[in-house]
Amino acid sequence: MIAYIGLGSNLNNPKKQIKNAVLALDAGEDLQVTGLSSLYQSPPLDGSNQPDYLNAICRINTHLTALELLYFCQRIEENQHRIREKKWGARTIDLDIILYGAQVVASKQLVIPHPEMMNRAFVLLPLAEIEADLKVPVLGKISDLIDKLNDFKLQKL
Ligand code: ATP
Ligand code: CA
Ligand code: CA
Repeated sequence: MIAYIGLGSNLNNPKKQIKNAVLALDAGEDLQVTGLSSLYQSPPLDGSNQPDYLNAICRINTHLTALELLYFCQRIEENQHRIREKKWGARTIDLDIILYGAQVVASKQLVIPHPEMMNRAFVLLPLAEIEADLKVPVLGKISDLIDKLNDFKLQKL
C-alpha cells in the first residue's frame, strides 16, 4: 500500500527531528520511504507564542494496516520524546497519516484522509511536490485543493 505521512516539529532542532523520524520510518522491514518533500516553515496554527513549525511529507510503501501504521508512528513520536500537552501545543515530532492508498477510514482512533488536510498549506504543498497529479479520495484533485486554500504563510526552505 502506498501512504503519505505528514511530519511536523517545532522543538529541539526541528530539522533533525524530521530527519530522524524519516530514518525511523524507513528502518524496519515493514515499510519503505519512497519519497520525501522539501521542508516548509510556517507559524503555529493557533497563533500562539511558540516557535515556527517545520513540516514535510513522505511517501511510503508498506504492508502494515492503517491502524498498525498509526501505532508505528506513535511509537516513533514516543521515541523522540514527544510530550502530549494541549492540542496544537509545541512538539518535538508529530506524525500524521494523511492518506492510506484510496482507503477511507472514520473510526474513533483514526480518520483518513486526514480531516484537516484540505485546510493546511503545509500538507497540500509538500504533497503536491511529491505527487503533482494526486487524486485525493473524497476530496478530489490536489491542484484544486491548493487553489481553494485561503491566505497562508508558508515558506519553502
Ligand atoms: P491534528 O490531528 O489536528 O493535526 P494533532 O496532530 O496535534 O492535531 P495529536 O495529539 O497528534 O493531534 O493526535 C490526536 C489523535 O488523533 C491521535 O491519538 C490519533 O488517534 C488521532 N488521529 C485520527 N486520525 C489520525 C490520522 N490520520 N493520523 C494520525 N492520528 C490520527
Ligand atoms: Ca498534526
Ligand atoms: Ca498527530
